[in-house]
Amino acid sequence: MRKLVWLGKDNFLLEQLAGSPPTPREDEVLLKVRSVGICGTDIHIMKGAFPAAQPPMVLGHEISGEIVATGGQVKRVREGDRVTVDAVAGCGKCELCRQSRVQFCANGFEFGITRDGGCQDYLVLPERNVYPIPPGMSFEEAAVLDMEVYNAVRKCGIERGDSVLVLGAGPIGLIACQVARVLGAGHITLGEVLKSRLDTAEPLGMADAYLQVQGASSGNGNVAGQFQVVIDCAGTSGSFKYALKAVRTCGRVLLYGVFEHPVDQIDMNEIVLKDLVVFGSQSDRDGWEEVIDLVSAGAIDLRRLITDRFSLEEAPKGYSLVESRVPDSIKAVLLV
Ligand SMILES: [Zn+2]
Ligand SMILES: [Zn+2]
Repeated sequence: MRKLVWLGKDNFLLEQLAGSPPTPREDEVLLKVRSVGICGTDIHIMKGAFPAAQPPMVLGHEISGEIVATGGQVKRVREGDRVTVDAVAGCGKCELCRQSRVQFCANGFEFGITRDGGCQDYLVLPERNVYPIPPGMSFEEAAVLDMEVYNAVRKCGIERGDSVLVLGAGPIGLIACQVARVLGAGHITLGEVLKSRLDTAEPLGMADAYLQVQGASSGNGNVAGQFQVVIDCAGTSGSFKYALKAVRTCGRVLLYGVFEHPVDQIDMNEIVLKDLVVFGSQSDRDGWEEVIDLVSAGAIDLRRLITDRFSLEEAPKGYSLVESRVPDSIKAVLLV
């Protein structure tokens, strides 16, 4: 059994463990991990920007695999099922958990962030954290399948024909474009600061128009007040200011990107006088089955977003690729 231990910064150790895999408890399942997505959050963790995640630990919170054993009370899945994983686990009993706001459970944890995650051969999980995937879906698609973006974009209240601007041409932005389309958006513009990332995104055809964003104070003239909904997946001071300018009167701005720095010098009257709704989303934990169906039906294409694959042995190379933000790389996964 292999286990990739993150030792801090960009140091990893691949441990070979003897013995047999762990045994699941009554309400748990044992997963043979098959794929793990590498995410920007992993890079934040490696840079020490995520105090909740401390080395030594096993990274990997975007996980898929195959059930190889189940506890006595497990009913929803059985041995042999292929599943995607919700890495966020709550107590399952408190008010927040019952409202599908498991990410705020006081007794919760997250695999790959506050507890060992998917970068290992076997992982024991609560039964309620796994969702079966159909035969046509690959493990790598299942690993990067993102219910969080879906939920967040759903809260934007997009109406048929709406004009939507998505900021940030990374994997999240590209998924957000596709979700906006599913929800009825009429015209979708993808905005990005880096020309090279825009060049990579454009051939995928997931938006209708592509816009190179040139800072909050310049290049706004042509987009000011054009969009009913702006979805900021970049999370920078520039993207936020741009979003406030680009959104139409009475429009909505979703802040989905996690901000690395506080934003200052915002003219709050841009929100007040335009009657805007500006909101964040950490994502409720429901909607897994819907997203699985949308991906399976081809309405959300994850396959073409996966540009790089690494074995567990090569994983450090994968993390450094994602960290260096190579323009023609969109999403990297590990095949375990
Ligand atoms: Zn992630
Ligand atoms: Zn709870």
